[in-house]
Amino acid sequence: MPFVEVHRLIPMNAQAYFNHSLDVQANLICLCPNCHSEIHYGVRRDILIEKLYKIRAEPLKRAALDVSLQEPLEYYK
Ligand SMILES: [Zn+2]
Repeated sequence: MPFVEVHRLIPMNAQAYFNHSLDVQANLICLCPNCHSEIHYGVRRDILIEKLYKIRAEPLKRAALDVSLQEPLEYYK
């Protein structure tokens, strides 16, 4: 049966850097298991993060999670 997994563009291990919760809709992204694995462990990780960042930068800003592209890239390392 097909299913999706919830991914946080800004990972929860970065919560200490923010005054607002990372568990908000703007930060949550549904991914298939293959893409979810790729964004955490794959060689195309940075490309996927950048694509998702471009889509979510504005919604994140409205949720008081104003981050540059460089920040999510650093949090995954
Ligand atoms: Zn994830």
